[in-house]
Amino acid sequence: MLTKDLAICIRAIDYSETSQIVSFFTRATGKIDAIAKGSKRPKSPFDGPIEVLLHGNIVFVDSGGEKLATLTEFQQQPALINLRNNLFMLYACLFAAELVNNLTHDYDPHPELFDSFLEFLHNANEQHSTSNQQRDILALLILFQLTLLREIGLQPILSHCVNCKTSHDSRAVGREIYFSSTANGLICRDCEPSFPDKIRLTKEASACLTRLKQISGSDEKTLKEIEKVIVHHLTGLLGRVPKMAKHIIQG
Ligand SMILES: [Zn+2]
Repeated sequence: MLTKDLAICIRAIDYSETSQIVSFFTRATGKIDAIAKGSKRPKSPFDGPIEVLLHGNIVFVDSGGEKLATLTEFQQQPALINLRNNLFMLYACLFAAELVNNLTHDYDPHPELFDSFLEFLHNANEQHSTSNQQRDILALLILFQLTLLREIGLQPILSHCVNCKTSHDSRAVGREIYFSSTANGLICRDCEPSFPDKIRLTKEASACLTRLKQISGSDEKTLKEIEKVIVHHLTGLLGRVPKMAKHIIQG
């Protein structure tokens, strides 16, 4: 059966001198693994070799999930060229692709996550001329990661203490707040002794996590702190440190 879909490449490995095995995150079908025969030939049927982060319309023959699908068409949209000109931006996008690859299942569609992922790539691509690029990209990455967790049903609880349900509202401003990966959310000072894995947050990071609208306007130091907490959480969820994380939270 031929299936048409919109797709973003999230992994590409060489299979032979002329072919690749590629993973696409598609809008209507979810993640698929496919063989792209002849993709590295000079006259490729796919507009050239397939690279991670390229997107466009694909046609593939579904194998029913038993083995690799076969890619028959890939009409590549113009590459988001600025992503390749800035290492931090590229790493952030590759990190997003790694997370989509590792946290979604084959043939499990998430159209809204697909739209958010594509929007994230476009927005990152447009940050090349902003004055505080690294800060802006971190803000985009954090918001995308939170969307990803929500879409796969693992949204962290940020509005109240996971344990005692006390709201982290304006009356609580200035009180200590902690993040616990095992609790999947924020923990208040009274409850934190029961959660050995908790991380104490600065009041700036607490304010951002309880009021997500503040993330886009927050300073780089606070965003770095939040990203470290998210990487710690993702490490717990995946059972290992994500490969690209070291490029994002260094220094
Ligand atoms: Zn509590």
